Amino acid sequence: MPSPVTTAPILVTGANGFIATQLISDLLAAGYRVRGTVRSVEKGTEQLRALPGAAERLELVSAELLAEGAYDAPMKGVTHVVHTASPYSMNVADPQRDLVDPAVQGTRNVLMAAHRAGGVQRVVLTSSMAAITDEPGSDHVLTEADWNVKSTLTRNPYYLSKTLAEKEGWRIVEAEKTRFDLVVINPFVVIGPSIAPSLNASNQIFVDMLKGVYPGIMSLTWGMVDVRDVARAHQLALETSSAKGRYLCAAETISMREVVGLLREHGYGQGTKLPSMGMDHAVGDVLVKLTSHFQPSGIGSYLRTHVGRVPRFDHGKIERELGLSFRPIRQSILDTMVDLKRWKHLAG
Ligand code: NAP
Repeated sequence: MPSPVTTAPILVTGANGFIATQLISDLLAAGYRVRGTVRSVEKGTEQLRALPGAAERLELVSAELLAEGAYDAPMKGVTHVVHTASPYSMNVADPQRDLVDPAVQGTRNVLMAAHRAGGVQRVVLTSSMAAITDEPGSDHVLTEADWNVKSTLTRNPYYLSKTLAEKEGWRIVEAEKTRFDLVVINPFVVIGPSIAPSLNASNQIFVDMLKGVYPGIMSLTWGMVDVRDVARAHQLALETSSAKGRYLCAAETISMREVVGLLREHGYGQGTKLPSMGMDHAVGDVLVKLTSHFQPSGIGSYLRTHVGRVPRFDHGKIERELGLSFRPIRQSILDTMVDLKRWKHLAG
């Protein structure tokens, strides 16, 4: 196990988010001091403040991604930064304003503040599989060498925001010859128990399945990873001095049919609208793609680029270089379901 890398506070942006809250919980448990940035220090931070060690070692400060210079003061005395803050939504009114601008300008803002501060040694950036591909195909095994080259403001704009934000990160490191090195984590669909009460867009998949949002079992297959493994990946990226480049972070793939079967087997079919009609065949795919045009545009383009496709990936780099091992995803799904009830996102 790597030893603690710093006695200075670790700066974590978007501290109240799904992934960041888990990371901060782990960092505090490991004895680190943490300075978390949030948009509002007062609102929605109770769970963070209640974490063991928070009273002594967690400081919360406010910062908005689009506010020029907002991260200069939080960066004072910091040697290690984790930049997680970025809007995560598949469906927004104005993709440029609501997704791309905060993601890209926010990354620039945080990294330039780290550069100006002078003492920062490492920045870990939470990117996404969205920066790797927006149209996985079973004929290609995805690795860190892959870049999403297809997303646009009308086609999977969230994916575009993550691709452009990560590229901006690498551009700054190169152009500014920063003293810090950049390490990037590219998680796939992150699920799992949440320390934060808000319902994350990924865990929403399970809520939607039970609420009847899906008319049938579609041929969708997700690469998934547990939030506790994603948090661990970020901590290992901070602590492993030899960490370098991007790290694809996904445990395994699971199809909608397999998820539905698992949930039914564990009693989640009773009194819910868990889909049963099979649409995971060639005719179903055509139907889903046709009807996708009546969905909100972000959801529609996601369906058109993902239905009938099975992502394949190689997560060997993160296992070898950071020593991460992944939890079995079926157990993570079951843990998620218990947690969704705990937070009352699902009827109990
Ligand atoms: P989340 O819970 O929605 O967290 C997003 C965080 O970003 C929140 O703290 C949010 O603050 C902050 N944020 C958004 N817009 C902001 C702005 N304009 N100024 C300041 N802060 C802002 O989502 P998450 O899943 O933890 O996501 C964290 C990171 O992981 C993101 O970069 C996301 O793209 C990436 N990621 C997530 C997944 C996944 O499946 N969950 C997969 C791959 C990558 P507010 O609470 O104030 O909105």
